[in-house]
Amino acid sequence: MRTKLVAGNWKMNNTVAQAAAAVETFVQHVDAKANVDVVICPPYLAIPKVRELLRNTHIKVGAQNVFWNEQGAFTGFVSPKMLDEFCVSHVIVGHSETRGRFGKLETPESTLGYFAETDETVNLKIRALLFRAMSPILCVGETLAERQAGETERVIQSQLEGAMKGLDASELFTFVVAYEPVWAIGTGVTCDTAEAERVCKFIRTRIGAMYDDELARQVRILYGGSVKSTNARELFSQPNIDGGLVGGASLDPQEFSLIVMSA
Ligand code: PEP
Repeated sequence: MRTKLVAGNWKMNNTVAQAAAAVETFVQHVDAKANVDVVICPPYLAIPKVRELLRNTHIKVGAQNVFWNEQGAFTGFVSPKMLDEFCVSHVIVGHSETRGRFGKLETPESTLGYFAETDETVNLKIRALLFRAMSPILCVGETLAERQAGETERVIQSQLEGAMKGLDASELFTFVVAYEPVWAIGTGVTCDTAEAERVCKFIRTRIGAMYDDELARQVRILYGGSVKSTNARELFSQPNIDGGLVGGASLDPQEFSLIVMSA
C-alpha cells in the first residue's frame, strides 16, 4: 500500500518572513496525525527557516532544483551536499519551467546543458540525489501541441527513459514521478480525472516494463497541474494517482491544508 504524498512547490514566491508565516499557519490547520506524507519546497533562501519551523512535525522540506556536482565553479547553483546540510528530503527535477518547455523562451544551444534541463542533466541530478539518499520528484509531461499531435505517451516514455537511464531498480524505491501536463500548469485548467489516471497508469506500466512489477507497485506517481481543494479528492482517489505536486494552491496555507487532507 503506497502512502499518499502531497508536495507544495512554492516556485519563486515567499521571502523568508513570508515563508515563516505561511508555514506557521499551515501547521495550525493541517492534521498532524493524517496518514499522508507532506513536503514543502520553498525557494532555497527560505529552506533553513522552514526546516527549523518544521523540525518537530511530520512535514518534510524539499527543494525545487539542484545541480549535479557537489561543488565547483558553477556560479549561482546549489549542490546536493548543500541541501543535505538542511535535511532536504525531496528535490524536484525536470519541472517544465526548468526544462525550458514553458512559454516561448528559446534557449541557445550553447547554454542548454546548464540553463535548460535536458533528459541527460535530469539523469545526472537524479544520480547525485540518490547518492545523498534524497528522493527525486521527476516531472514528466507533454505540451499542448504534443498532446494535440497524439504524442503524449511517446514524450513521457522518452522523458522517463532519459531520466532513469542506467539506474538500478534497487536505487529507486524512494523515487517519485509527477505527471505534469505542461498545459495544465498554472493555467487553472486541470487534466480530466480519468485522463490523469490513464496517463499515471501508463507511467506505472512503463516503469514495470523498464524494471519490474515490484518497483512499479512501490513508486509513487503524483498528478500536478492546477490542483485545488475542489478537485484534489477526486484526483487522489484514483488507483494510480498517489497524491499531488501543487504549485499555486500551495501558497495559501489553508487551501494547501485542505488539499493535504483530501489525500
Ligand atoms: C507546478 O508548478 O508543479 C504546478 C503543478 O503548478 P500549479 O499547481 O500552479 O498548476
